[in-house]
Amino acid sequence: MKVITNIPECSSKKRIVIIGGGFAGLHIAKKIDSRYYQTVLIDKVNFYQFQPLLYQVASGGLDPSSISYPHRKTFQQKKDFHYRMCVAQRVKPEEKTIETNIGYLKYDYLVIATGCDTNYFGNDKLKDTTYPLKSVSESLLARNRILLSFEDALNAKDEDELKEILNFVIVGGGATGVELAGALADMKKSILPKDYPELDFSKMEIHLVDASPRLLSGMSPEASAAAADTLSKRGVIIHQNTPVKDYVYPYVELGTGGKIRSRNVFWVSGVKANSLKGLAEEAYGRGGRLAVDEYNRVEGYENIFAIGDTSLMVSQASPKGHAQVAQVALQMAACLAKNLNEQAQDNEKWRKFRYSDKGSMATIGRNAAVVDFGKFHMKGRIAWWLWLLVHILSIVGMRNKMAVFIDWVWNYLNYDVSLRLLIRPKHNPMYQGMDNNTPVE
Ligand SMILES: Cc1cc2nc3c(=O)[nH]c(=O)nc-3n(C[C@H](O)[C@H](O)[C@H](O)COP(=O)(O)OP(=O)(O)OC[C@H]3O[C@@H](n4cnc5c(N)ncnc54)[C@H](O)[C@@H]3O)c2cc1C
Repeated sequence: MKVITNIPECSSKKRIVIIGGGFAGLHIAKKIDSRYYQTVLIDKVNFYQFQPLLYQVASGGLDPSSISYPHRKTFQQKKDFHYRMCVAQRVKPEEKTIETNIGYLKYDYLVIATGCDTNYFGNDKLKDTTYPLKSVSESLLARNRILLSFEDALNAKDEDELKEILNFVIVGGGATGVELAGALADMKKSILPKDYPELDFSKMEIHLVDASPRLLSGMSPEASAAAADTLSKRGVIIHQNTPVKDYVYPYVELGTGGKIRSRNVFWVSGVKANSLKGLAEEAYGRGGRLAVDEYNRVEGYENIFAIGDTSLMVSQASPKGHAQVAQVALQMAACLAKNLNEQAQDNEKWRKFRYSDKGSMATIGRNAAVVDFGKFHMKGRIAWWLWLLVHILSIVGMRNKMAVFIDWVWNYLNYDVSLRLLIRPKHNPMYQGMDNNTPVE
């Protein structure tokens, strides 16, 4: 294997290689001090993706470019910084190298921030038949699926087929499932009847299927109850304590015995860590996450760190590890960057990671959200405005913040979203056998 070219060896500075440019990787890459380190960022996509708003792309509320930002643009001004678009495949700790699909690279410090992928819980057939929501490209595929359904519905040959086309099944009652269900319910009420006056939308059903006893199980019982109440009032059919056994087109088989006929199945029910080969078995903890100490150092290695969703830091305060959320990723990145920068200045005393919980929130649709902040809970319109504000502030790039703000104001005033474009590749197996339409050029 050849070395990755055009990254100069630098004798005066140590090299930090960061794998993954999501919340954690991007943040630490920004914070590493170029006076002391050469930084190399590796990501398989050339842009940052703001995952909390993927469901809005899927439901036509936001343009994909509003929640994405090119890595090269982010780091235009950063000195001694290099980005390579490639897939990291294996770590060789004994040689201090990582192997990728475009070559290998030496590191002095390695930071693994590869995040998570969809978990099908061993049923890999679901990869080809259901729609996940972990990346911008997947959200576009989901958007196409949703829009295609209504076009197909106009051509349904009988009532059974119409039911199959207008049944939407969302598997997973976490924030993404709740948010997608709420967005579809909003579309059903205010947008779709205007776009498709020929269709009877009382026949459209949105099923939210969740294995756990309550929605938003990571939030407070108050938030769960408010989400269930609002969604039910907006017509979403909630199946609680109901694991999905399988989906063999056209039926979703429920663990409780029932079946739902549908061609629109969105799988947002779990995540598993994106792992790299080459590390000792003991380094991998629950869910394939990399076990780290309080400095985010991977167990058994001096100079390999893991941050964000892919890391598992077990402590008394968090016996199952921290939640896989953006704040944890950002705070771990900030703490590790500070430690590495300090170490370069001969300050050997490292700061332990302590998570500061800034609360959690989820939106349920227009004018409805839930917010937990310690013992304080909020729901309804004010929570929704707070949710909008926090998300606008969190988006990367001023143009993106403005674009999202304008889209949201427009959508709010007009009860409409205008991004219902069916743009699809010519050949994609996800479209074959799932609908009657042959993709057009
Ligand atoms: C749909 C959705 C909604 C969410 N909503 C919220 C929310 O409302 N609030 C909240 O706090 N959190 C939310 N989260 C969780 C939050 O997005 C994650 O906790 C956060 O993204 C974790 O950051 P990370 O840097 O660890 O991983 P990611 O942000 O997932 O970044 C991982 C990066 O690694 C890259 N990568 C992976 N493997 C490789 C490889 N082998 N080689 C090269 N590159 C690789 C990927 O391309 C990606 O850029 C949501 C997540 C999803 C999917």
